[in-house]
Amino acid sequence: MTETNKSENKTKLRGLGLSETEALAKDLGQPAFRGRQLFRWINKGITDFREMSDLPEVFVRKLEEKCTAGSLELMDHQVSAKDGTEKFLFGLGDGNAVESVLMRYKYGSTACISSQAGCRMGCAFCASGINGLNRSLTPGEMLSQIMDIERYASSPVSISHVVIMGTGEPFDNYDGTSGFLRLIHDEKGRNMSSRNITVSTCGLVPGIRRFADEFPQVNLAVSLHAPDQETRERIMPVSRAYDMDELMAACEEYTEKTHRRITFEYALIRGVNDSDVSAARLANMLRGMLCHVNLIPLNKVGETGLDGSGRKRAREFAELLEKRGIPATVRRELGSDIDGACGQLRLKRG
Ligand code: SF4
Repeated sequence: MTETNKSENKTKLRGLGLSETEALAKDLGQPAFRGRQLFRWINKGITDFREMSDLPEVFVRKLEEKCTAGSLELMDHQVSAKDGTEKFLFGLGDGNAVESVLMRYKYGSTACISSQAGCRMGCAFCASGINGLNRSLTPGEMLSQIMDIERYASSPVSISHVVIMGTGEPFDNYDGTSGFLRLIHDEKGRNMSSRNITVSTCGLVPGIRRFADEFPQVNLAVSLHAPDQETRERIMPVSRAYDMDELMAACEEYTEKTHRRITFEYALIRGVNDSDVSAARLANMLRGMLCHVNLIPLNKVGETGLDGSGRKRAREFAELLEKRGIPATVRRELGSDIDGACGQLRLKRG
């Protein structure tokens, strides 16, 4: 698929696969191997054709005339004084903007990227869904977030891990997400290991089934956030379309097919899903499953009217799960001083 920048009417190269870039080189009067060279430069994050030192002048001039790397516009950038987490607001060139986050860990640097501008899933605790969905992102726009984080980060960084956990529901944009996964995995491009990538869904069952078939090596995280159907329906409207039983059945199929452990995300909301009874129910539901629970002491999201349970309660909740044999950890609260929850940067500007 060729992505075209309407304003400049130029082809955006970051969204093209290797064979498409070879075809483009041929269209511009060059042999296919020039396309392979171009593909390598583009996937290294180089945006200026003049820096692509092994391309002939005639090809560079053609590229300048007809193509662009497709980089994003940096609209906002915050760096946490507490833990070094960096948040970026990137403009897509059509009035839409998305958030991306850089987190540095001992094992490497992780980019959390968005799959859609806005979201139509309407989770009660999430600022991203408040204004609904504007549009889905292309594979090139998803890849660009990683390259542009590396470009604009406060100090040199090479992203080794990616989580698709920013704004949007990746399986509501299955084509964009799968195209991105193929691009980033391409051994002639970034060649990122599937095992270093995690896709997080709010529970779109058909997407989970397709993903298990097509990307069995990529990690799956499921935003569960409730121990029963009634609570989940209150905070996650998607649960009316795909109820808890269907979701759990799809998750079991996933682990059987892939032999991979699912991470269940569980944001603790005061008075909604954080009681001892909730912990016991959750443990019963997950017993025997190849899984791990990631407890999130929710950042306070002013617009949603919901309160997080706090770290102390999160640790108690984790202990209750562990006692019942369910592995659980409390997620570190990164970037709490710089607009913590997903969607907050975008909302402020909007
Ligand atoms: S939590 Fe995720 S799926 Fe739910 S509304 Fe927010 S962005 Fe969408």
